[in-house]
Amino acid sequence: MRSACRVVISVGLVAALPLFAASQQTTAPQGRHWSIVVHGGAGVIERPDLGPKGDAAYRESLKKGIEAGAKVLDAGGSALDAVETVLKMFEDNPLFNAGHGAVFTSEGKNELDSSIMDGSNLKAGAVAGVTHTRHPISLARAVMEKSPYVMMAGPGTDAFAKSVGLEQVDPSFFFTEARWQSLVKQLQKEGKPVPPRPVGAPPPGAIDPVAFYDEPGDSRSHGTTGVVALDRSGNLAAGTSTGGLQGKMPGRVGDSPIIGAGTYASNQSCAVSATGSGEYFIRLGVAREICNLVRFKGMPIQQAADQVIHKELEDLHGDGGVIAITPDGQTAFSFNTPGMFRARLAEGGKLEVHIYKDEQDANQ
Ligand code: ASP
Repeated sequence: MRSACRVVISVGLVAALPLFAASQQTTAPQGRHWSIVVHGGAGVIERPDLGPKGDAAYRESLKKGIEAGAKVLDAGGSALDAVETVLKMFEDNPLFNAGHGAVFTSEGKNELDSSIMDGSNLKAGAVAGVTHTRHPISLARAVMEKSPYVMMAGPGTDAFAKSVGLEQVDPSFFFTEARWQSLVKQLQKEGKPVPPRPVGAPPPGAIDPVAFYDEPGDSRSHGTTGVVALDRSGNLAAGTSTGGLQGKMPGRVGDSPIIGAGTYASNQSCAVSATGSGEYFIRLGVAREICNLVRFKGMPIQQAADQVIHKELEDLHGDGGVIAITPDGQTAFSFNTPGMFRARLAEGGKLEVHIYKDEQDANQ
């Protein structure tokens, strides 16, 4: 399997070559280079759960996403634009627990959470419990740029999205058969009532692109998505988008839309996006905690991320992981679960796409 992984990664490298060649011909202003890191959730992600088809599909999705972000940065675009571009793609990809493909609440609905932060000015936007807006990450950005607020929740959030022209969809747009079956399985196992199949969902048995993917043993149903980026102007940004926890009570909000917990970005320290058991990430203020270790203790980003994930989070028995980046382009992955969907690409560098814990990340 390891060699199969390498093959997939090598194919990714070859496909990305024109991008690197193009970037090497361009002189970056102030000699700065862009860099981008993405995740697609952490959890009990093991080879038998994904199977070869699932494995390949996730790697391809991570590769396509990060390359789209890299294209934005390579053309001189902002870190913020790169973050939003990748997360919109992930929100439309049924493999990820965000947008179309999000997990269901115990009542069989999708309630979406998202946030974004601009490291250049500490502006941030966050939304919770979104039910009608196709791209929650764009809504989070609209809250940041077009409202006087940082965070919105509940029905007014979708109404605001509509008022600023963001695409509205019927809630059944977010439905996927694989997530539905996974919810049914979980509720039956827990002896809880199974809600009726959502109105507007395709009939059972309809072809579902994620049907090959049998949910693993943990009930969290990973697949939360996140991106951190550094642009050529030296600005950082971070964003996170999720459906939250499978089978959550309606109204439950995790760490993903909490600035400082699931998402944080400051040009003075770092940018972080988290995934995992959200309640612990909120209690520790994980994203900000990592950036504080960088800023006030002068820790390298990998050490700061490892200290928070492998020490502070583990001490509370929380699980999950983070991606992080600093203004000088250091990047980190850190997670305490069997896997985290992750990828990293820096200007002039090699594309890394990894899933399992035993795949060695470059600087670890
Ligand atoms: N952190 C997310 C939440 O608690 C879930 C996840 O990342 O898997 O809502």
